[in-house]
Amino acid sequence: MTQFDNSSLEVVSLDDMDWFEFQHFTAHLFEKLGFGKADEIQKGSDCGRDVILHSPSGNVIIIECKHHPKSTIGRPTVQKLHSAILTAHSKKGYLVTTGKFSPAAISYAKALGSTIDLVDLRVLADMANRAGIKLLKKGENTTVYHVLPPSKEIVNKQVIKTVVGSALSHPNKAEELTRTTINEITFIPAYLIDYSIHENFCTSVGTVHSVHREYERILVDGQYGTLIKPKLTQYVEKSCMKELWHPSQDDVIYSSGKFKIGLSNAKKRGINFVRGLHTQTVGYYGANNVHYSKKCIPKKSSVFVRSITQVYIPLLNVYSKIISIEHRLELVGNKSRVEVTKGNVEKCELCGELLTKKRLLCNSCGKVVHGPSFLGHSYICEICKKTICKECAFWTRKYIFFKKKLCADCGEQLKIRGKKIKKFELRTSGTKPYYI
Ligand SMILES: [Zn+2]
Ligand SMILES: [Zn+2]
Ligand SMILES: [Zn+2]
Repeated sequence: MTQFDNSSLEVVSLDDMDWFEFQHFTAHLFEKLGFGKADEIQKGSDCGRDVILHSPSGNVIIIECKHHPKSTIGRPTVQKLHSAILTAHSKKGYLVTTGKFSPAAISYAKALGSTIDLVDLRVLADMANRAGIKLLKKGENTTVYHVLPPSKEIVNKQVIKTVVGSALSHPNKAEELTRTTINEITFIPAYLIDYSIHENFCTSVGTVHSVHREYERILVDGQYGTLIKPKLTQYVEKSCMKELWHPSQDDVIYSSGKFKIGLSNAKKRGINFVRGLHTQTVGYYGANNVHYSKKCIPKKSSVFVRSITQVYIPLLNVYSKIISIEHRLELVGNKSRVEVTKGNVEKCELCGELLTKKRLLCNSCGKVVHGPSFLGHSYICEICKKTICKECAFWTRKYIFFKKKLCADCGEQLKIRGKKIKKFELRTSGTKPYYI
């Protein structure tokens, strides 16, 4: 598992956090700033210490979190933290709030020297900024990042890789026969949700299943609120994204979907998708030796959303022509990698059946068909070695029973010299052509 480097992309909306998420966020922030490693956060064990950090030099740091945006934290909360620090034999504590501190709380903390630091919203925003996290204010619009679309060259390469693959091709290479045009690029609005999930599923016989994942990501469609194929998150890379983006190819039509779903809604949906993705049914034996099965659906509170980023993902509508054969394809990707998501590929253009690795690119018409075999969908010209499909092939009698397969040019040459040249018969039965 690789950690996604989104240091400049982490956007956090405090308004959309509950108190438990705020504790996670605080732990993450302090860890990111190098204060130390946080213990796993226990739910509901509030004894004036929500987060316990172990600093690199071996000290214990106690953090108390108060996610009360509109309220003022008074002196009793500072006192409670102080006793928690003493109980833990620690020397340092932080009181973090999204609200303010009362003058009494401030003077009490001051009297304790450097034992307790008070962190209000202003200080918190500053710390977040240093950690590369953007704190979103209420009603503030987030930055929407564009995943940079690929160049025509990269698209052309991928089209050839997908459509032609490892096909035999002579005398020309597929690259020399293929022309690709990007018709349209549509940017799909999406929320990139960065999350971790931790839960143990227990029964009377103990833990039967557990989910522990860090730095996972999903994409929620910003227009329809649906889950976007998890595979596509791989294209949302920091190095391939830009805040401001301007069309670079004038012969391409650009369009963009609209964000119709708000951040909080996207987060709610995202958490449910995450729960669905990590739901698993497990079997186990009870104390009575009876086999049971349990559907383990993670709780909402087991999912911690680290950040939500709004992104536009480019969907490319592509037209590609190999000699005379046209392909219409849909691709998704970024400026360095793409994949074909839609298009009539991987099928023999003569029989319509699935292609195997052994395939051939007809250098006369541009069809990709089953490679030379008893199927007889393609041949290699026995004079010039040109790769040809059955439709483009000719034959002449060789000995009594054998047919010598030829390309059109070589066939023409033999005809001039008086040989009898024939085309292969193509019979059709129903809608599907039938080849003899
Ligand atoms: Zn075929
Ligand atoms: Zn052909
Ligand atoms: Zn030939």
